[in-house]
Amino acid sequence: MTTATLSRMQEEVRALARERDAVILAHNYQVPEVQDVADLVGDSLGLSREAAATEATAIVFCGVHFMAETATILSPDKTVLIPDPDAGCSLAASITGEQLREWKAQHPGAIVVSYVNTTAEVKAETDYCCTSGNAKAVIEAIPEDREILFLPDMFLGIWLERVTGRKLTIWMGECHVHAGIRPADIERWQAEAPDAELLVHPECGCASQCMAFGNERTHILSTEGMINFAKASSKNRFLVATETGILHRLHKEAPEKRFEAVSERAICKYMKMITLEKLRDSLRDWKHVVTVEPEIAARARGAIDRMIEIG
Ligand code: SF4
Repeated sequence: MTTATLSRMQEEVRALARERDAVILAHNYQVPEVQDVADLVGDSLGLSREAAATEATAIVFCGVHFMAETATILSPDKTVLIPDPDAGCSLAASITGEQLREWKAQHPGAIVVSYVNTTAEVKAETDYCCTSGNAKAVIEAIPEDREILFLPDMFLGIWLERVTGRKLTIWMGECHVHAGIRPADIERWQAEAPDAELLVHPECGCASQCMAFGNERTHILSTEGMINFAKASSKNRFLVATETGILHRLHKEAPEKRFEAVSERAICKYMKMITLEKLRDSLRDWKHVVTVEPEIAARARGAIDRMIEIG
């Protein structure tokens, strides 16, 4: 697409959003041209909060399906659209509601904490949702004597055990993108860029290893945490270990600094299924509306509200 065509389509999207009274939310991993046209770009927690607070009639969620479902649960009176309903998530797909019910039956009395990357049905079986940005606070809010079932991301679970000192019972799910960032990628960068700060997402396959050999320039952070850290830091060079879509926002928010991906292969094909064209079509043709069964939505909402209350 030429620059002129791109700007024309971005104008069209903005005009349609105004006409339709819709707010456009985009995840940090979206393609640059979608991020640039959004009202808000953020991580799942920031976007969940915006979805709950917006006064717009409709929300167009540029992200993967479970995120749009979460927006539907939080804003039942609004229409939530997703530009491509097939934008899934390998991590959310790693556990079903049925599997969680069986797991709970094996651990009676345990508290269930689910990373927000789960389907509405799994959230409905959950006590507390969390994101990587607030997972530590959520675990710390649970009484010490209660068993915690943590799902679905094993790397985030292992990292949480280390930072909270709590023993968790962890579901062995993983995100194929983050699991693909290996300790060897990190080691190479540690050697080749001794002047750089290393920003690692806790879902990375390397995160627990980074904790083990980490030094003062290794920082385990959520995507929003990475942006805040880079802006506030006196350092100028950063290596980033998460999905590469975050680089666009980092470059925009701290243009004077240098950001590089630890692994250029860390690309989520599901996030990249949302294109500017599909976003335009979604607003123009009012598709694809995301629905959640009211009984499931009510139970899932309890787990999300408890997360939002903790912060
Ligand atoms: S990067 Fe991983 S966790 Fe995030 S949406 Fe893609 S598959 Fe899911």
